[in-house]
Order: sequence, then C-alpha cells, then structure tokens
Amino acid sequence: MATPERDPDCLFCKIIAGEIPGTRLLETDDVIVIQDINPQAPVHGLAIPKRHIPSAAHLTLADAATLAAVIDAANTVARDKGVADSGYRLVMNIGPDAGQSVAHLHVHILGGRALGWPPG
Ligand code: AMP
Ligand code: ZN
Repeated sequence: MATPERDPDCLFCKIIAGEIPGTRLLETDDVIVIQDINPQAPVHGLAIPKRHIPSAAHLTLADAATLAAVIDAANTVARDKGVADSGYRLVMNIGPDAGQSVAHLHVHILGGRALGWPPG
C-alpha cells in the first residue's frame, strides 16, 4: 500500500499544514526545516519531508529524490546558520531504542558546539 501523504494524527503533518505553529527556517516544494522546540545544541533544526513517511526505516529506492531533498535542505540550513565549516551532525532516530518520539521522518541538524561521540 502506498504511504499516505498525510497522517491526521501526526504532529509534523499538522505543523506542515500550518495547524500547529512552528518556526520555519526553510521551505521548499517537498521539505520544511523547523527550529527544534527543545534545542540540544546552538543550532538544532529538523528537516522534514512534507509527505508523511513514518521513519527512515520506511524509505525505499523510490523515495531517493525525497531523501536527497531533505538532506539538501538540511545542508542549506547548516550553511545559513554558519556551521558548515565548523561541522555539524545529521541524525535520524528510528524506533524506541533510538528515542524517536515523532513518527514522521525527520533529520536533526545539530551544530554550533563540539558534539560527543558515541551518542548516549
Ligand atoms: P525524535 O526524538 O528524533 O523523534 O525528534 C523529535 C524532535 O521533535 C525532538 O527533538 C523534539 O524536541 C522536537 N519537537 C517536538 N515537538 C515539536 C514542536 N512542536 N516543534 C518543533 N519541534 C518539536
Ligand atoms: Zn506526518
């Protein structure tokens, strides 16, 4: 079955539709980047495809262009925020052990400080 375009119960679908506020850092035809409401670094954005995909585990090769658009938007925001040269981390959490709390694919853009490795 095809992935639905929108899940009526999804927080990020509601932000994309403008039904819940979100600070938009960038918007394209296919992607929004919003400010994370609980930032974990001086730069913390979320690059989100407008189409509802529950997590990266649901991606297939047919979604290649969507994923590239998400990463491209994340890279643009990293440049705009001035962390492209100092470095930044793109993170996708998948499922409970990784701490995924919103079931709509999103790429965290983290930067502006030295980031520890391995993550907790
Ligand atoms: P994850 O835990 O990887 O699923 O990431 C979800 C992220 O969404 C967390 O970093 C939250 O702080 C963030 N978040 C939750 N609600 C909102 C909201 N209303 N606006 C912006 N970011 C949010
Ligand atoms: Zn959604």
